[in-house]
Amino acid sequence: MAVAGAGVAGSYLAFRLLDAGYAVDLYDLPAQTACGTAPCAWMATRDFSAVLEAEGFEPEKYVTARFDVFLLQGQRVGADLMTIDKPALVADLRGGAEVRTGPLDPAGYDRVIDATGTARACLPPIAADDLCRCVQFRVRDGSGEALPAVRYVRGGYAWSFPLGGGERHVGCLSHLADPVGLVGKTGFLDGERLCGCRGRLRVTSPYGALPFVSGNVWGVGEAIGCVYPLVGDGIVPALVSARLLLDHFDDPAGYTQAVLDAFPAMQQERTVLERMKDGRRPSPAWLAEVDTSRLGIRVGVASAAGLLLKMLAR
Ligand SMILES: Cc1cc2nc3c(=O)[nH]c(=O)nc-3n(C[C@H](O)[C@H](O)[C@H](O)COP(=O)(O)OP(=O)(O)OC[C@H]3O[C@@H](n4cnc5c(N)ncnc54)[C@H](O)[C@@H]3O)c2cc1C
Repeated sequence: MAVAGAGVAGSYLAFRLLDAGYAVDLYDLPAQTACGTAPCAWMATRDFSAVLEAEGFEPEKYVTARFDVFLLQGQRVGADLMTIDKPALVADLRGGAEVRTGPLDPAGYDRVIDATGTARACLPPIAADDLCRCVQFRVRDGSGEALPAVRYVRGGYAWSFPLGGGERHVGCLSHLADPVGLVGKTGFLDGERLCGCRGRLRVTSPYGALPFVSGNVWGVGEAIGCVYPLVGDGIVPALVSARLLLDHFDDPAGYTQAVLDAFPAMQQERTVLERMKDGRRPSPAWLAEVDTSRLGIRVGVASAAGLLLKMLAR
């Protein structure tokens, strides 16, 4: 068996399958970023701890800071979020599995797991795929906030997420414009720049990312759209989908249905995003459709959703 992609989902699956006695070859590309993992702001939602504990890991080992408040347009908003040391997490998820960086010949394997994130390198392409552009920098010192901060920009939002040790991830995603031209206008990007990367985020949702299984190729994580399309969080969903794959290892239909059932809020966010991209003005009736409970946001759900919509409407 081959696992393509040694990110969150692929690393974890390779480790578990090796542990279960399968012969597994784990593949990735040569490192593309300074941190060695795919571009990511390393912010985890409140389910992170429960999901990791259920898999036998100690979540606190990876949490670098917890936040019960973040700044949305400079306003304090109650939340339940944490930044994590994602490279350390991915290394532990991988356990002793070695990573090969040579080409993967799918014909040489009885099963291939496509855990290649936005690349979706092994599954058939998605007809109406939607990949949102992102840019990010790691900065040190500067006058940035000690709290996570988010500001809307044209067609998306910018973030400044403290990582501990005076460092922050400052980044930006936009559904409408090149984020490189937007991030500098937020005021977040001060201090010494340690590294930078560009990436894409699959905002298609799983409902638009079928098939999850094609022949002997099984997809998982962001490769099959397991990302919340408005907010862009995909770490916890990647782990959840990896668990679903293990639970339905010989049942492609059951796996497909389980993934579709697991993330109803992704479909809600996708629907709202499509309306926004169609140029429709946000309506109050849409607000109740966005479930922000996984972020632990403690303003009214409608207000939070309203702020999210405002981000996208500009
Ligand atoms: C700028 C940015 C910021 C983000 N911030 C957050 C955040 O703060 N919190 C959050 O929850 N989510 C965030 N995300 C999303 C999150 O990073 C991903 O959804 C999540 O890591 C997906 O996990 P995965 O295991 O599916 O894929 P990934 O973790 O992306 O791993 C995919 C792996 O596949 C490898 N690969 C690619 N092509 C090939 C190939 N041809 N052969 C072999 N290997 C290949 C890649 O090198 C990579 O290691 C962010 C995304 C971006 C772009």
